[in-house]
Amino acid sequence: MKDIKNELKANKYSFQHLLELIMQSSGLFLLLVHVILMFYYVYLDIKYMMIVNTISIIFYIVLIFIKKNKVSMFSLSVFIEIVVHMILATLTFGIESGFQIWAFGLVCCFFLPTYSGKNKKRVTLSSICAVTFVILYFLLSFMVQVYNIRLHEPVRESITNQLLIINSTISFIAIIAFTTLYTSTSNKKYDELIKIANYDELTSIYNRHALNEISTSIIANASNTNKAYSVAIIDIDYFKKVNDTYGHAIGDEVLKELASIIRSETIKGIISGRWGGEEFVLICPSTIYYDEFIIILEKLREKVAKTKISVSSGKKIKITISIGAYKVTDYKLALDEAISYADDKLYEAKETGRNQVIS
Ligand code: GH3
Ligand code: MG
Ligand code: MG
Repeated sequence: MKDIKNELKANKYSFQHLLELIMQSSGLFLLLVHVILMFYYVYLDIKYMMIVNTISIIFYIVLIFIKKNKVSMFSLSVFIEIVVHMILATLTFGIESGFQIWAFGLVCCFFLPTYSGKNKKRVTLSSICAVTFVILYFLLSFMVQVYNIRLHEPVRESITNQLLIINSTISFIAIIAFTTLYTSTSNKKYDELIKIANYDELTSIYNRHALNEISTSIIANASNTNKAYSVAIIDIDYFKKVNDTYGHAIGDEVLKELASIIRSETIKGIISGRWGGEEFVLICPSTIYYDEFIIILEKLREKVAKTKISVSSGKKIKITISIGAYKVTDYKLALDEAISYADDKLYEAKETGRNQVIS
């Protein structure tokens, strides 16, 4: 399994990439929209819309090519452009052309902080923007319908209908793009949190929380089939000496290596994790016999004792482990209660010479 820290770093990197991709593709999309609209403005010879649209086109070309590291600034300037265009176009073509529908797509800016990283300022700003777009939608409809405020005489119905289709499509695309991105970004973040919550940062194996979670189904299974499951606790012998001799960082490397040996020596079905400090726990489901489990533990102990762990200082360190194992037949016991029985055996292993498995 990949180191969790590296994986999270990689995720952060790809997230920054994703943001750039969003900005680039939305910039391109809006550029395309404005180019299409330009044909209509030229065809209808509406000068001020041609000027506004040309400025918008230049704006999007610049946005596509400049380096984007200011997400908030990018979103804000795009919103301002869209709002100005939307107001002018609605007052020019009337609500029957559907320019005011852009507000529906814009309301999705409520999701923006999820992509760009939540902070109080961004959440407030995007909420204010979302509410402004709702107000703007009604205000524009009201101005045109009730007060009949128009900047231009009505255009042909066929053109109005075409514009309505274009504007509805744009708004649908914006809503679908925003929500799809929202879902995928949230899922990604959820996966990250699950990883942080369940895996030990140093060794990348399950942490205590995950072991407790996983144990519930193993215990339930054992209880339902009335077949014992087993647990074991592993503790490095004289680990304090390793730290004292080589330093804490080297001690960490030893812990990582031990975790990887534990993973490679335990067969499928046996759950391993870091219980805390220099202690590791194995949970063996009832589908594997206790005797078989003890043989696996014995092999693991031997393997550790034989391994010369290469650390970054160039040295090779040898360690031994002591293991306490316990066959659980009382299914009412919670995992830590079952482990406390295994811990008694571990104590015995330590007391009677270390580097051994006591079952
Ligand atoms: P014993 O054989 O009786 O288990 O002796 P021990 O020295 O291993 O046991 P002790 O409980 O005295 O010391 C455990 C040491 O493990 C002390 C602590 O500094 C070290 N330790 C616990 N967690 C970590 C860790 O995350 N990294 C490192 N490097 N050391 C750790
Ligand atoms: Mg210990
Ligand atoms: Mg120890």
